[in-house]
Amino acid sequence: MSRSCLTAGCSLCCKVLTSEFNNAGTWCPNCRPGKGGCMIFATRPKCTGFECGWLQGELGDHWQPNKCHMVVRAGDSSEDLHVNVDPAYPDAWLKEPYHSELRAQVKLGGKVTVHVGNKYVVIADSFDGLPKGADKNKLKIVLPEALGKD
Ligand code: SF4
Ligand code: SF4
Repeated sequence: MSRSCLTAGCSLCCKVLTSEFNNAGTWCPNCRPGKGGCMIFATRPKCTGFECGWLQGELGDHWQPNKCHMVVRAGDSSEDLHVNVDPAYPDAWLKEPYHSELRAQVKLGGKVTVHVGNKYVVIADSFDGLPKGADKNKLKIVLPEALGKD
C-alpha cells in the first residue's frame, strides 16, 4: 500500500522543521496534528510539497515519522541524511534499530546530521567535513554555537 501523510495521521514535519510560521521543534500554529493536519492546506506557502524519506518509500515501515519521532530527509548528496528529531523524544535517534541504521549509512560513506530543535550533531566516520570541534566519538547533542551552523 502506498504511503500518505493523511492515512498515517502524520504531521511531524510541521513541528520538527522550520517554516515561516514556526521554529524547528515547535508546532506550526496552523497544524492540528492527528486531526487533519494543516488547516490552511490550500493556501499554505513554501512548506508545500515537502516529502520526507519515509513518504518517498526510501525507508522501512519503522521509520514512519509520527511513530519513530523522527523525520528523515536527504542532504546535499544522495549519501547524506538529515534526521530531525521530535524534541519531546530527544533520544529517539539513539534507540535501536535506528542508531545502527544511521551508523550503517555513515559506513557507506555518507554523513548523517541529527537535529533536535536548534541543536545538532554530525555522525561521520572521519573528521573530513565535520564542523570544527565535532568529535566522532561523542555522539551527544551539542549546541550549534559550538559546532557552527550547518
Ligand atoms: S513527516 Fe513525512 S509523512 Fe509526516 S507529514 Fe511530513 S512528509 Fe508526511
Ligand atoms: S502551514 Fe501547514 S503545511 Fe506548512 S508547516 Fe504549517 S501546518 Fe505544516
